[in-house]
Amino acid sequence: MSSINKILIANRGEIALRVLRACKELGIQTVAVYSTADKDLKHVRLADEAVCIGPHPSLNSYLNIPAIISAAEVTHADAIHPGYGFLSENADFAEQVEESGFIFIGPKAENIRIMGNKVAAIEAMQNSGVPCVPGSNGALGDDEKNNIKLAKSIGFPIIIKASGGGGGRGMRVVGSEKDLINAIEITKTEALSFFGNDEVYLEKFLTTPRHVEIQVLADQHGNAIHLGERDCSMQRRHQKVVEEAPAPGISAELRNKIGRICAKACKQINYCGAGTFEFLFENGEFYFIEMNTRIQVEHTITEMITGVDIVQEQILIAGGDPLSYKQKDIQIHGHAIECRINAEDPYNFMPSPGKITQYHAAGGPGVRVDSHIYNGYTVPSYYDSLVGKLITFADSRSKAIIKMQNALNEMVIDGIKTNIPLQRVIMKDATYKKGEVNIHYLEKMLGENNS
Ligand code: ADP
Repeated sequence: MSSINKILIANRGEIALRVLRACKELGIQTVAVYSTADKDLKHVRLADEAVCIGPHPSLNSYLNIPAIISAAEVTHADAIHPGYGFLSENADFAEQVEESGFIFIGPKAENIRIMGNKVAAIEAMQNSGVPCVPGSNGALGDDEKNNIKLAKSIGFPIIIKASGGGGGRGMRVVGSEKDLINAIEITKTEALSFFGNDEVYLEKFLTTPRHVEIQVLADQHGNAIHLGERDCSMQRRHQKVVEEAPAPGISAELRNKIGRICAKACKQINYCGAGTFEFLFENGEFYFIEMNTRIQVEHTITEMITGVDIVQEQILIAGGDPLSYKQKDIQIHGHAIECRINAEDPYNFMPSPGKITQYHAAGGPGVRVDSHIYNGYTVPSYYDSLVGKLITFADSRSKAIIKMQNALNEMVIDGIKTNIPLQRVIMKDATYKKGEVNIHYLEKMLGENNS
């Protein structure tokens, strides 16, 4: 049995509520932590205990490591769940949590550190047999002639990426040799100021890839499994907007092949917990781009098609239990789609915080709403604009799309603007319905991309 009796949830919004629900179902006590702007969050009210950890700026609250660890100490929590974003991929936090005597619900700090450095991550993956994008195989040196030679051998267009980059920042596409040296210099300067590390590397720029990612779970006893893939190609500015599982057109054979490679890589790097291997997928080939060492926003759709509660598994694994499933127990049934609901203008994408005057959630069989909002809740302006996730599940992709069209029409969120109108357009889009979109499609559809 798990050694965890009380969990501190070091996050806010829908994911904090999701973790709280998992804890309740496992009979585990919960501690919510919140900033002064967040005292009315739903999970704060539902938690067994709640501790205010600071004022609204994230740096002073959700990113304030001493305040979070003190809250765990005063409430006698056993473990800390970081959710996603904030401190979830901060290796120093994971280390300090463990050094203070708490269980970090996630992988070891060492794994987080390697995956947080893209050059180190690619090297670890190549050593474990995971297919990567053809590239410089390491950080670029200062020798200009060498760098030009390298880029020519990869073939233009190439993409320069910062080793410490994240959130879609620190990348630059170069179409021809004449722009290369200047672009490397600019990316290095930006990388130093954004990420405190000027290391950059080169990769082949894939022109029409899809984003396909593999969900994995690994325990402390050397077991690792994969839960199939998700397609997250519908993106704007590298932010996912719609996700689905399974990915259209991926055969069971291909899924199992790449899934097994990922599970094996987890064993080789001694990975523990939930994780996601992100790939670009083009012409039937997978190319690793990065690994996320935390729960992801879109974990829900994998839960729908496998029946596995990924958050509960994370908690059980962290408590020392072996995985509840073997690979052969994982069967994929049906199709799930997730639409992210953001508090933003659906046309110009400006954030739209404020008070929700009317809220009616969609419902019915095969409809899941993961959201912390309620009538009268005020969305603060200080944090991410995600206010909920609408998920539909049916026995085929086309039925899941119809269900989503209906669910989006049922959903009422008044008082603030949301991207629901855009999601309605996407769900009616002929190319989307055919399952033929790549990562550039949404921006083209919105007239934001001329490439
Ligand atoms: P981040 O950590 O900032 O999210 P990623 O390495 O995951 O960076 O890349 C983010 C996005 O950038 C990808 O989802 C894809 O849209 C684009 N991208 C990254 N590498 C390539 C590449 N080699 N070719 C084409 N697009 C790429």
